[in-house]
Amino acid sequence: MTAALDHRELYRLPWNLSDNAIAWLEPTMKCNLACEGCYRANINEHKSLEEIGKDLDVFERYRKIDGISIAGGDPLTHPQVVDIVRMVADRGWKPILNTNGLALTEDLLREMKRAGLFGLTFHIDSKQHRPKWKNKTEQEHNALRLHFAEMVARVGGLTCSFNSTIYEDTLDSIPDLVAWAQEHIDIVHVMVFICYREPADPKRFDYYAGARKVDVSALTYEDTGQRVDISAHDVVAKIRERWPDFAPAAYLNGTERPDSFKWLLTVRVGTRKRIYGYLGHKMVEMAQVWNHLTTGRYMAYAPPAMVRRGRSMLLLWPFDRGLRRMLWRALRSPSLLFRRLYIQSIMVITPVEVLDDGRQDMCDGCPDMTVWNGELAWSCRLEECIHYGQFMRTVPKEHAIPQHEQPDLVTLQHTE
Ligand code: SF4
Repeated sequence: MTAALDHRELYRLPWNLSDNAIAWLEPTMKCNLACEGCYRANINEHKSLEEIGKDLDVFERYRKIDGISIAGGDPLTHPQVVDIVRMVADRGWKPILNTNGLALTEDLLREMKRAGLFGLTFHIDSKQHRPKWKNKTEQEHNALRLHFAEMVARVGGLTCSFNSTIYEDTLDSIPDLVAWAQEHIDIVHVMVFICYREPADPKRFDYYAGARKVDVSALTYEDTGQRVDISAHDVVAKIRERWPDFAPAAYLNGTERPDSFKWLLTVRVGTRKRIYGYLGHKMVEMAQVWNHLTTGRYMAYAPPAMVRRGRSMLLLWPFDRGLRRMLWRALRSPSLLFRRLYIQSIMVITPVEVLDDGRQDMCDGCPDMTVWNGELAWSCRLEECIHYGQFMRTVPKEHAIPQHEQPDLVTLQHTE
């Protein structure tokens, strides 16, 4: 079952290529795990601080941003990760570390906080082949999520988010993960579900770099037999099985399909025991516009002090239907007005989808743009740049150029 969602009733997040909430820095290609859904080659290669500085120059030249996701690879494998955090903070951006957490210690976290770290996004799911966590379910991984959430809370003053890639066989676990996030709403600020995709499907398409046909076999994952068409509608439908009133507020559409939900944002307000309601699209719009008016930037992550102030937002009830519903509940149960209410975001991300006619539906206003050869590039498809010097075009098999008219086949070469 899929959920009925109408993009025209939600707020289209205002992010675009030059004025966005975030950008994506890749200081290393090395990772200490091998997740099934990873779209990057694992190469033991770090960028120097000088090269990283040049990437930051590119962001500064092209893009207004609030925060930078420091990703990879896993950024904690970089021996100078603390310096990298400081470099980002020194330029006035919020450094957000995207990590699997394997190499994280509390001492290192405190050191990064002193260097200006704003928050962390932990990627944790059951397909990462973590030592000691093999064959554990998605729900059993909540113990690991809690370990990191509590560590971040002990250090204090940092945002704490969790990413999970969602596969066909883990789709059913989503309500349990959303319930876990609610149980820890005071220390878990964002939950992100990323729908599993494969970067290429040679059975459906031929691939071209410019005019040259390319062999993409090394870009594909192991054939897991998993669905690659799980959408935000499917994820919302799963969540609504337990929370029928679950109400997304904002989205990013696709570059090809205005009604596809590439990023779908829901913001809920509640306590560990109960969710009292969801912010409506007007409230999310006001937050983004107000932030831009006052700081010149769209907001990436709210500071932890702000997400504890769910109750004071009720004062804005005249402007937002979601707040009016919450206030109505409060009037029927006045004790709500004396409780601390937390704000928690739930984001669903649906990476590239290749349409039957070969068009590629990317995130319109991609927040995760990184740097390739001094230019902005989609981080989810950087391997194509590395292997072919540019992004690939997709041509449906039935429209393929006849063999005798094809240029030489370019074979794939690793940069190792
Ligand atoms: S286009 Fe790719 S890199 Fe950009 S936000 Fe979407 S999935 Fe991420």
